[in-house]
Amino acid sequence: MSFFKTIRVNYVTKPLFYFLKAKGLLPSISETEKVALRAGDVWMEGDLFSGKPDFKKIFFEYKYPKLSEEEQHFLDNEVETVCSMTSDWEVFKKRDLPEEVWKYLKEKHFFGMIIPKKYGGLGFSAYGHSCVVEKLATCSQVLAITVMVPNSLGPAELLLHYGLQEQRAYYLPRLADGRDIPCFALTEPEAGSDAASISAYGELFKDKEGHYKIKLQFEKRYITLGSIATVIGLAFVLKDPQNYLNKGENLGITCALVNAAIDGIDQSRRHDPLNVPFVNAPLSGKDVVITIDDIIGGSNGIGKGWEMLMESLAVGRGISLPSTSSGGSKLASYVAATYSVVRYQFGLEIGKFEGIAEVIGRLSAQTYLLDSAKTFTLGAIDNGAKPAVANAIMKYQSTEKFRKNILDAMDIQGGAAIIRGPKNLLAHVYFGAPIAITVEGANIMTRTLIQFGQGMIRCHPYAFKEIQALQNGDITSFDKYLFLHVEHIFRNGFYACALGISRGHLHRSTFQDASSRYEQKLAWASAKFAFISDIALGLMGSGLKKRESISGRFGDILSQMYMMSATLKRFKEDGSIKDDEVLLRVAMEDGFYKIDEAFVGIYENLSTGFLGFIFKLAGFCSRLNPFSSGIKDVDLHIIARQMSNKKSFRDRVCSNIYHGVRVTELFHAAEAMQNAKEAFVKEKKYTNSSLNEDEKARIRHARKLQEGIVAVDSFTNEEYFK
Ligand SMILES: Cc1cc2nc3c(=O)[nH]c(=O)nc-3n(C[C@H](O)[C@H](O)[C@H](O)COP(=O)(O)OP(=O)(O)OC[C@H]3O[C@@H](n4cnc5c(N)ncnc54)[C@H](O)[C@@H]3O)c2cc1C
Repeated sequence: MSFFKTIRVNYVTKPLFYFLKAKGLLPSISETEKVALRAGDVWMEGDLFSGKPDFKKIFFEYKYPKLSEEEQHFLDNEVETVCSMTSDWEVFKKRDLPEEVWKYLKEKHFFGMIIPKKYGGLGFSAYGHSCVVEKLATCSQVLAITVMVPNSLGPAELLLHYGLQEQRAYYLPRLADGRDIPCFALTEPEAGSDAASISAYGELFKDKEGHYKIKLQFEKRYITLGSIATVIGLAFVLKDPQNYLNKGENLGITCALVNAAIDGIDQSRRHDPLNVPFVNAPLSGKDVVITIDDIIGGSNGIGKGWEMLMESLAVGRGISLPSTSSGGSKLASYVAATYSVVRYQFGLEIGKFEGIAEVIGRLSAQTYLLDSAKTFTLGAIDNGAKPAVANAIMKYQSTEKFRKNILDAMDIQGGAAIIRGPKNLLAHVYFGAPIAITVEGANIMTRTLIQFGQGMIRCHPYAFKEIQALQNGDITSFDKYLFLHVEHIFRNGFYACALGISRGHLHRSTFQDASSRYEQKLAWASAKFAFISDIALGLMGSGLKKRESISGRFGDILSQMYMMSATLKRFKEDGSIKDDEVLLRVAMEDGFYKIDEAFVGIYENLSTGFLGFIFKLAGFCSRLNPFSSGIKDVDLHIIARQMSNKKSFRDRVCSNIYHGVRVTELFHAAEAMQNAKEAFVKEKKYTNSSLNEDEKARIRHARKLQEGIVAVDSFTNEEYFK
């Protein structure tokens, strides 16, 4: 150790360490938190935390996913077929998918998309799997959820990563072809968001032959596919009261695959999740006896359940819900844009009203952004990354955006979106939005605790290392990371000031085009974020976790930066299409505007106490020197015009949607209205007799299709009450 360092350790670091210890300020992280923190890995979120994101890596190194021929074929054939077999209205009426759809899903191995081919699955990439779920969601949410669940966190996923060879060989082929229907049962009445607090337990005992067995007691709820599952992935605490295994009584959370036909399991009840008729149920078990071989991973899996779940969730959050959310948003954009051409009020197509154009513009730009972020993240997953924080961002942001997008589209359709029936394309999608918000980590907690709380410790270059050193009493390591951290703060402070004063211009962008100014501002935002979050951490230490109004806003900034980086990437990957510049502009300005709001909110929360005036001043400066002055209405109007009139533009924003009967009717009606536009103008200006035969025919045709679109469903009393 150099002389200088010795002095530093003895006179700065050691006293600091003992002071923290004496005051009880050493950060404490429980075992379950540690496991959650270690789950997955750090990908480009780490760059955003570093304050100096590497845009060359984003543009050139990170691979953008593409569908394989086989995946494309599946989308064009099997997915189209199953969609054509499914009438969402009928599904709601009968409260189940038709029997032939269940049969087809099993036959074509929809439930085994993530299962490798050698086990009879489809062996799809994360991107392929996501595109299937996305398209199904544009036909029927029930169809999408039913397919999504066996392919997300559940028996197959857990077996693939942690199962014994024999377990894989037995279960995976059966799960792939639907002989077994899986569910995963974690949640309990007293253990929702705090899933580690489950009280389901299993006691180890020896049967008459002297074989080890486990007797389970559990009461689970909200379990998707729970009442029809044949194999239950069950999370429980394994206990060994006789200490047979010499590891103490509590062996920790463990996951097992339980045959649903075993005595003691009750699958007889159903929940009704907002009337959306997918299978969701409570599930209980009394004195259910399984063997150690039923534990995922056998005896090696004892006590590893929490780790398994956290690891799998860290990946899964980036796939399923972002896919249903982008599907729902694309459908919403498509319906809103085409309807706005067909529906006339006050003698004008409603899309011509600025109020409506604003909403279509916002909705479409958000859909573009969401699709970009989803694809970017899937590219990472397909290339082997397990970006825990990016996936949590995707789960939170995609479901929040979806909820807003579907409401926007419904507002545009007015009454036609409210009246249920086969003609309504949006109402059932809307019912599904709160479900997506709640599952896989309810959103309020995901925003405040996971995005930033986990991100700050996990993605920060030094925070976790410092905590570990403190916990281990390792003063040398603590000294090393502490001073690297201090250097990091100064460097980011300097960057943040330099970039702030120059409004980002000191950053040299990778390209000189529509993306360059946004790259500069992102570099500036990242430096400011890294600096201010470090200051907040320094001031509050582990207390920052509890200040959720602050950590939530840091999470907002991080997630905006992530999604905007993904949008820049997409713009370049698509070939910098001129028409799309306006989508990029709106998505970026909106994101920067939200970042400004979040910073101001953080400063306000920090503006109390001794150093409060500094944050008041920082808030004042932030307002004077914002990242964005907000979205321009004129840009929203341009997007709305393009969405309504330009098929290629609309198809890019709303790619991969299922064109069922009603969507096709909407498309034809919108086309017919466009084709008759001039004739309508002539008719209005002069008289009907001034029109030639072709013009009259166009108007007749357009009006007929328009009538069909404007019509809503109605029922006889008898039908209604049935
Ligand atoms: C339709 C549906 C399907 C589901 N499918 C399954 C399944 O297949 N398997 C399964 O195991 N589970 C399933 N779940 C359960 C789901 O994962 C839980 O609902 C979820 O974890 C939230 O638990 P909770 O509903 O008890 O909410 P609570 O935990 O009671 O949370 C209530 C509110 O408090 C917030 N909150 C909690 N802690 C914090 C915090 N520290 N900071 C800030 N806010 C916080 C939450 O965000 C939420 O807004 C399903 C749920 C639903 C509704």
